Amino acid sequence: MTETFETSSVPDERNAWRGRPALQQPKYEDYQELNQVTSDLKTRPPLVFAGEVDKLSRSLAAAAEGKSFILTGGDCAETFVGSTADKIRAKIQTILQMSVVISYGASMPVVKIGRIAGQYSKPRSADLETRNGISLPSYRGDAVNGFGFTAEERRPDPHRLMEMYQRSATSLNLIRAFTRGGYADLRQVHNWNRGFTDNPAYARYENLAGEIDRALRFMEAVGSDFEAISFVDLYSAHEALLLEYEDAMTRVDSRTGDLYNTSAHYLWIGERTRQLDGAHVQQCASVRNPIGVKLGPTATAEDVIALSKVINPNNEIGRLSLITRMGAKQIYERLPQLVREVKAAGIPVLWICDPMHGNTVTSGTGYKTRRFDDIMNEVAAFFEIVVNEGAIPGGIHVELTGDDVTEVLGGAEELTEDALADNYETLVDPRLNHQQSLELAFLVAQMLGK
Ligand code: PEP
Ligand code: MN
Repeated sequence: MTETFETSSVPDERNAWRGRPALQQPKYEDYQELNQVTSDLKTRPPLVFAGEVDKLSRSLAAAAEGKSFILTGGDCAETFVGSTADKIRAKIQTILQMSVVISYGASMPVVKIGRIAGQYSKPRSADLETRNGISLPSYRGDAVNGFGFTAEERRPDPHRLMEMYQRSATSLNLIRAFTRGGYADLRQVHNWNRGFTDNPAYARYENLAGEIDRALRFMEAVGSDFEAISFVDLYSAHEALLLEYEDAMTRVDSRTGDLYNTSAHYLWIGERTRQLDGAHVQQCASVRNPIGVKLGPTATAEDVIALSKVINPNNEIGRLSLITRMGAKQIYERLPQLVREVKAAGIPVLWICDPMHGNTVTSGTGYKTRRFDDIMNEVAAFFEIVVNEGAIPGGIHVELTGDDVTEVLGGAEELTEDALADNYETLVDPRLNHQQSLELAFLVAQMLGK
């Protein structure tokens, strides 16, 4: 590694977020304890490196120009106990499979980003949760407090930030090993498939893997060099929510003097914390990492133009992505005008579809869920609208897991309300399971291939 990060000669913009309104932050009992943890974090090695971040920025620029497609996927909220080798491998496998389906189907490179290795905190709609007359702080993700409904568990604990760092480091280590060490080699395309091929999504994938196999054997026969297909880049991403943690991981790149947030390659600002004058926008604006902003149905072009001025003052292509999450019901009402007006403003943005967060419902049996059809419909509508407005549909951002969970209704296996109880594991939002993720990838390939 030729890069180092310095802590001296800190640029002024580093602290610009302090003093701004900071929503969704944990209320710690002892801020001295927090300072001890963040001081320690500041001395720890970076999790990602400036050169990798810059490489991702170039890929995002290509996606903004329609030359590649962004696939971001992973848990709504990672958990410490869930950061096992098996679960991480299953997620990587799913992302790799989806990317093969999309790139083979649409003849387009796919930029792979995991909501992995740092997605440990959540914004919540209420500070308190009340059960049976008892109110406790809401669960804000393992980086803040515990899920169990006891005063002890729910107490925000700054030491969890260190655990988040360590879990992220070991997850990234595994990701690097899998993606560099032969596992992600395209010649492994069959081995990534799971479950039985009487499942329509797996059968369809198996077919495609067979075609890829034949193409690879042909290339081998004519003497192609397989170096390029033997490993992949899989970038990490999370919502940059916990300001003190993100700050502690922000370093000066010794090559350029620029600030990089070394907690992940790609960071996004949530729908609830994207206020123009807020601390989150300011903090993300100060680093060179590419930045995403979630946009719900109330977002306007004025919001976007103002955000772009702060986050992307030099109008760099790929620096700012807009992750729209309108919901299948509202997307036709909201998105066309937004895309049209942002395009008319002439600012470069990368349009990404999050078909999950506008489609959350509660099942009759009391589970937080989503209908697979709504998710598919929002993705299809996104493509149609963005293309119609003369812009480029640059990617999707989904909540998924590599496991056989039962959290999203429908899909080829027609998961019913009754079946939700079978294997409902998520602590926050419902995720596509492995086969539903594949089905979605086939739809995207079809949309892109049009
Ligand atoms: C999320 O991505 O899990 C999330 C909370 O999204 P949003 O900010 O769009 O509500
Ligand atoms: Mn979520």
